[in-house]
Amino acid sequence: MPGHENASLSASRPLRLSRAAGFPSLQALHRFARPVLVIMPALGLVLGLAAGVAGHGPWSGLIWAVATVPVLVVLIVEIVGSLRRGDVGLDIVAALSMTGALVFGEHLAAVVVALMYAGGQYLESFAERRANREMTALLGRVPRTALLHRDGRLEEVPLDVIAPQDRLLVRQGDVVPVDGLVAKGVAVLDQSALTGEALPVRKRSGEPVMSGVTNVGDAFDLSATHRAAESTFAGIVRLIEVAQRSKAPMTRLADRFALAFLALTLALAGVAWLWSGDPVRALAVLVIATPCPLILAVPVAIVSGVSRAAKAGVLVKGGKVLETLTRVRTLVIDKTGTLTHGRARIVEIRPMAGLSSDRLLQLAASLDQASKHVIAQALVAEARGRGLDLLPPTEVEEIPGEGLEGCVGGRRVIVGGIRFVSWRVPRVGAVAAGQHPAGSVVVAVAVDGAPAGLLILADPLRTEAAQVIGSLRRLGVTRIILATGDRREVAQAVTVGLHLDEVHADLTPDRKIAIVQAEKRHGPVMMIGDGVNDAPALAAADLGLAMGARGAAASAEAADVVLLVDELDRVPGAIGVARRSKRIALQSVYAGIGLSVLGMIAAGLGYLTPVQGALIQEAIDVAVILNALRALWGVEPS
Ligand code: ADP
Ligand code: MG
Repeated sequence: MPGHENASLSASRPLRLSRAAGFPSLQALHRFARPVLVIMPALGLVLGLAAGVAGHGPWSGLIWAVATVPVLVVLIVEIVGSLRRGDVGLDIVAALSMTGALVFGEHLAAVVVALMYAGGQYLESFAERRANREMTALLGRVPRTALLHRDGRLEEVPLDVIAPQDRLLVRQGDVVPVDGLVAKGVAVLDQSALTGEALPVRKRSGEPVMSGVTNVGDAFDLSATHRAAESTFAGIVRLIEVAQRSKAPMTRLADRFALAFLALTLALAGVAWLWSGDPVRALAVLVIATPCPLILAVPVAIVSGVSRAAKAGVLVKGGKVLETLTRVRTLVIDKTGTLTHGRARIVEIRPMAGLSSDRLLQLAASLDQASKHVIAQALVAEARGRGLDLLPPTEVEEIPGEGLEGCVGGRRVIVGGIRFVSWRVPRVGAVAAGQHPAGSVVVAVAVDGAPAGLLILADPLRTEAAQVIGSLRRLGVTRIILATGDRREVAQAVTVGLHLDEVHADLTPDRKIAIVQAEKRHGPVMMIGDGVNDAPALAAADLGLAMGARGAAASAEAADVVLLVDELDRVPGAIGVARRSKRIALQSVYAGIGLSVLGMIAAGLGYLTPVQGALIQEAIDVAVILNALRALWGVEPS
């Protein structure tokens, strides 16, 4: 992958740049060898023709033969390698036709096939590079250093020394290196690389900024909130690297056709030879089958689709995932942070035991600083917004999705859902039994073993929720099921009017897995979730989709698809892109094979010479590859 080696990041290491040292990699060798393998037969072809024109006819054949050999040798080495791995590929046809042409003295045909074959390979790698460009471009944007305000001066520092609260200067044109808040001035940011949104956005002082976006306005000061390795961009880069490594194109699709096509080709060639008694007819048939467009077109269409999705802020981890995305029948969706946007606001504070409202919120939010749960983050943001001083929590123990327990300023605090807290402090159950506004999220707090109060939050549905559910139904998702760890009353109140098939509430992470497993009998299941507590269910589903690359790294890593932007309407969009790519891939395969078979029959009947066959086949290949590249653009109407 070009540029890939420039930006190598791993999960545990902070952002660092490493350059491949020592021997050139095999890939680099390939990159160098490919153009040479095209130039040799091209040069041979021209020289041989020139020799013929100049009256040195006998030399032509020799020159063409010599120019064919390097391509044939490299091809045979590759075939032996893939046979060892147990793959029977269509490259065999290419090798057979070149060998046959040399043996039967069709030297011009041999060199033309060699040129077409090597040219096709080159075209394919070009198309794949083009298709991958959006993903690779993201990797190439990783900044190396940042400008840090230190003791009244600006210092250029490596990213891994930046700590939360550090103040950085982001110049015009810089890529924002870590997640933070605008500290001074107004930032005008181009987020298109991450979200596909073309219009720049304005962020005022105090507003959050994601790493990985570009400053297109004046320089501004950024106050870091995360280390580089924990920032959004590092998360995205890690995910892309995983996606590229697991880039398994639709091999099953190609496999289905490859062996059948190989058998058909050999049979047709054999019949043509037997029937006409002329081996050159068989050769012409083989030549037309070389190289089969399906090995070229399928990966190009799939990689294009993955790239197209990345451009829209949806990271699809490989071709197989893209294929699964086209078959989803059931959706299991989480509530908090997924169907709702999780930016909950406090609507009521009910303190007890002589605490003030602010003190209750301060204790709860101080402890919740240790949690990545969306509701925890909302509480912390509210407390900060009210100017409360947050204390560092210690001895924290969390049960993801349920709540946590720890020490804050010398007091033992428990924060979480009613079930979680009342299980530890039973009196909380009675306190929380009262009436709450419909659909509101209730966070219970206990301090030093006694109920301390309730925090009531409104966490409304995303505005696009109903429309997204409607689009998914139109795309053929027949069952849509809510699976939430929250209370039944909340789940029911929030989902009124969404027409869901089932609503499951009060779930623990393993109950979410059980629901996903049970749904699998209706067809492929997609699970959409956001929190750490959703990671197991995301992994259990046929297709896990995580909201947001940072929020909870565990869920993004367990998922097959990650929304790099916090917008639910990207889900039907991604399914549309997947469908379109698959349709284009299949279209290329059927059209390519159909045309090739027609050509083979014409050649078998003696209407095409091997040289004409090679030229026709090349035209088919180019058309099919260009068609496959269409998957880079456009969307499926839904
Ligand atoms: P969902 O499955 O819908 O995403 P969760 O299981 O993640 O919901 O959360 C359910 C409820 O648990 C929340 O609405 C909240 O009341 C409570 N909760 C869980 N973790 C925390 C936390 N760290 N701080 C406060 N409340 C929490
Ligand atoms: Mg959630």
